[in-house]
Amino acid sequence: MPHHRPFPRICIALGLPDAARLLEHARQEAESGETFLEFRLDHLDQPVNGIKVIREFLKAHSGCIVLATCRRHQNHGKFNGSVEEQLRILELAVGAGAQAIDIEIETAEAASEKLSAFRGRAQIIISYHNFETTPQLDSVVKRMTRFPADAYKIVTTARKPSDNGRVLALARAYPRTPLVVLAIGELGFPTRVLSPAFGGMYTYAAPLATQGTASGQVSAHLLRHLYRIEKFSKMAKVYGVIADPIRHSISPAVHNRGFQARRIDAVYLPFLVSPLQLRDFFTLAEKVPITGFSVTIPHKQRVIRYLDAVDPLARRIGAVNTVWRKAGKWRGTNTDAEAVLVPLSRHVRPSKASVLIVGNGGAARGAACALIGAGAKVAITGRNPDRVRALARLCGAEPLLREQAEERQFDALVHATPLGMYPHPNECFFNGKIPAGIVFDMVYNPLETCLIRRAREQNKAVVPGIEMFVEQAVRQFEIWTGEAAPRAVMEKAAMEALEQK
Ligand code: NAP
Repeated sequence: MPHHRPFPRICIALGLPDAARLLEHARQEAESGETFLEFRLDHLDQPVNGIKVIREFLKAHSGCIVLATCRRHQNHGKFNGSVEEQLRILELAVGAGAQAIDIEIETAEAASEKLSAFRGRAQIIISYHNFETTPQLDSVVKRMTRFPADAYKIVTTARKPSDNGRVLALARAYPRTPLVVLAIGELGFPTRVLSPAFGGMYTYAAPLATQGTASGQVSAHLLRHLYRIEKFSKMAKVYGVIADPIRHSISPAVHNRGFQARRIDAVYLPFLVSPLQLRDFFTLAEKVPITGFSVTIPHKQRVIRYLDAVDPLARRIGAVNTVWRKAGKWRGTNTDAEAVLVPLSRHVRPSKASVLIVGNGGAARGAACALIGAGAKVAITGRNPDRVRALARLCGAEPLLREQAEERQFDALVHATPLGMYPHPNECFFNGKIPAGIVFDMVYNPLETCLIRRAREQNKAVVPGIEMFVEQAVRQFEIWTGEAAPRAVMEKAAMEALEQK
């Protein structure tokens, strides 16, 4: 009986249409240091051609574990044969050296007597997939554990944030059952990072050069080097950002690098939370538990109703971008406001400055409250005079039409609309002369916006939006950890993340 090696924490899922490419990609993965590869034989035009690939691959890479999968199309795979043909191919895979096989629960139920032929020769992973939803999970475990196996893989689809909590809790609820638990889809991404820390045996990752085999799968490089899933412990604190959409967020890059630099046992994750699922997110946050999180579009205002305490500045602004838990209570503040003052103060003393704010949304409101609080003389302009007037009245600023603002000269200008933001980098509120000596653009993607470029051409001092972004993140880091943030590391991470977007 062969000695079964424990599974590494990351399994690379290789789904390619032809045998030569499967071999080439498997070799690439092994050469880059991966040791646990799933060969999706059902993705091959001829699944049986994968047998030679397994043999040839393991001849050169005997240190690797090959998991053979030949999922039937009835169970959302690509194999069109019968249960008998599926088991025959898996039998050949084991004969070629595959150390583990994935057998769907449906196959196990249809041919339970045939499973014993694999026992002792390969590790049997019985898998359950639900591509619709995350059902009641105890009954799924009960259904699966009727069949002896080396691991039980439960993959569901997260429909709401709290589904992630239920999937993760499963691994803790059955500590003596070897489970692999995951929720697929962008909403389920946190489970891919957290499941091993919750007791799941391993997680799946996409290969280097091709797409993964399931939605929400990311590269092993990202899991290892950004989310550090092999480094953070079961006791690690969990942080994150809530947004919709979430894909664009550079906050995971910035905060994870910060934790890494300070050697803090913590991980920071992107949580996709739609406007109607904010309350449900708090169910997840209690369950994980999440220690703190950043809040961005569209939740900055609505999140306030779910918090136990909000500081006076954030309440005045009417928006919270930073939440944390202290003594079981959710607290909120707004670090965007200070993040406007700090970079601006490098150029001008706010208490002595006249500042024109462009925009009347949440960021403009935060900037106006912070600047007026610091003693600046603030005017506001924007495309909608009624909304500009309403904000000006609310915070004690002067409302101006665009033409009026263009005729005046301010010490500084703070641009707080999305104009110029990717994917529309050529948009700019001002076409001619910019009516201020210092130009601060909150937009940070691209790093050099059209407004900043024009300001440089007009020999003005500039504050790019990335300075504000880093500043608000630095403050969040300090609130959450009580430690000085590694600013330079976080800034570099922000720049790199933006360059990759
Ligand atoms: P928001 O609440 O949605 O407000 C957007 C503002 O922009 C509104 O005043 C809106 O005017 C105006 N606007 C939108 N499209 C416009 C257009 N085509 N022409 C002129 N005005 C337009 O958004 P927000 O939270 O205030 O954010 C504003 C910008 O600041 C975003 O680009 C955001 O990424 C950036 N920001 C950056 C940081 C940072 O760390 N650097 C932090 C916070 C925000 P109406 O009211 O007329 O629609």
